Amino acid sequence: MQSFQFRRAMDALSASAAGAKPGTRFVAGGTTLLDLMKLNVERPEQVIDINRLPLDTVAPLADGGLKIGATVRNSDLANHPIVQRDYAVLSQALLAGASGQLRNMATTGGNLLQRTRCMYFRDTATPCNKREPGTGCSAIGGANRTLAILGTSEHCIATNPSDMNVAMAALEATIHVQGINGERSIPIADFHLLPGSTPNLETVLEPGDLITHVTLPPPVPGSRSLYLKLRDRASYEFALASAAVVVSVEGGRVARARIALGGVGTKPWRSTQAEALLAGAPIGEPAFRRAADAALRDAKPQSQNGFKVELARRCLVYALKEATQ
Ligand SMILES: Cc1cc2nc3c(=O)[nH]c(=O)nc-3n(C[C@H](O)[C@H](O)[C@H](O)COP(=O)(O)OP(=O)(O)OC[C@H]3O[C@@H](n4cnc5c(N)ncnc54)[C@H](O)[C@@H]3O)c2cc1C
Ligand code: SF4
Repeated sequence: MQSFQFRRAMDALSASAAGAKPGTRFVAGGTTLLDLMKLNVERPEQVIDINRLPLDTVAPLADGGLKIGATVRNSDLANHPIVQRDYAVLSQALLAGASGQLRNMATTGGNLLQRTRCMYFRDTATPCNKREPGTGCSAIGGANRTLAILGTSEHCIATNPSDMNVAMAALEATIHVQGINGERSIPIADFHLLPGSTPNLETVLEPGDLITHVTLPPPVPGSRSLYLKLRDRASYEFALASAAVVVSVEGGRVARARIALGGVGTKPWRSTQAEALLAGAPIGEPAFRRAADAALRDAKPQSQNGFKVELARRCLVYALKEATQ
C-alpha cells in the first residue's frame, strides 16, 4: 500500500472542496476502500475521513418519507424501527449482506459506492478495463460465473455487488450530494452508470461530490415489501441473484409493483417492464412468471453464468409469491 495523506473533514462543503483534488478519496467505514488499497487497486494520495460530519442520523420527513444520513451504519439502518416497519425490504437487504462486524462499519454512502467483486478487478496482475481502461476484460472468456447478464458491454461484465442498492432501487430512493458547485439530488435509477465503453466510470458523481444523505418516498399504504437473496452459502456471500419487490394488492390484483434485481446486473437492476406487466394482473404464478420473463428478456449470459437467467426468474417469482400471500 502506498503512503497517503490523511485528513479529517470538518464540514460538508470543505470536504467537497478538498475531495475535488485529483487522487483524493473519502473514507467512511473503509470496508471497501481499505481492502482495495491493500490490494493496490486503489492508490489515493489523500484520504479524507468523513466520520465526524453530522451525517449519521435517520429521521422522518414531513411528507412521510425518510432521510438517511450518508454515514449511518448498515447495522443501525437495518435495525431502525421506521425502516423495519415501513421499508422492510431495505432492512432485509442490509441484513443479507456481509457479516455483523462489517455491517457495524459499513455506511449508507459507502455501500452505494462499493466496487465490484470481479476477481480480475481485484488482481492487479490481470488486464481489466475498469481498473486500467484499455487493457481488456479478463472475465469475458475467463471466470465469469458470478458476473452480470444484464447491462453488460464488450468492455465489462462486472456485477454491482450491493444488496442495499437493489432495495433502494425498488424503493425509488434519491441520493443527495454536496458538490463544489452546490447541492443536487439524483434519483437512484440515474446514479449508477452502465459500463458501455467506459467501465471505469461507475456513477454520475463528479470530483469532490460528497453524498450527504439518501431520502426515501413515503411508504405506499397497504404495500408489502421483501428482499430475497440466492447465493452459494447462507452468509458472508454475495448474491448470485436477488430480488427486491414492493407490491400492493387490491381485490386479488396487483395495484402497484416496484421490482429490482441484484447479482445479475452491472447496476442495481430496476425492471419497469416487469412492473408494467404486473400492474392490474391477478396475483399468482402465471402473471409473476410473465413479469420475470420480461425482466430477464435482454439477458446476455457469458460462458459460465447461463444458469443465472432461470435462477433470477425463479427468485423474482418466489419473492412476488411471498410478498402477496
Ligand atoms: C468480506 C466482505 C463481504 C461483503 N459482503 C457483502 C454482501 O454480501 N453484500 C453487500 O451488499 N456488500 C457486502 N460487502 C461490501 C460492504 O457492504 C461494503 O464494503 C460497504 O457497504 C462499504 O461501505 P463503507 O462505508 O465501508 O465504504 P468505504 O470503504 O468507506 O467507501 C467506499 C467508497 O465510497 C466512497 N465514499 C464513502 N462514503 C462516501 C460519501 N458519503 N460520499 C462520497 N463518497 C463516499 C469512498 O471514497 C470509497 O470510494 C462485503 C464486504 C466485505 C469486505
Ligand atoms: S468484468 Fe469488468 S471488472 Fe471484471 S475484468 Fe472485465 S473489465 Fe474488469
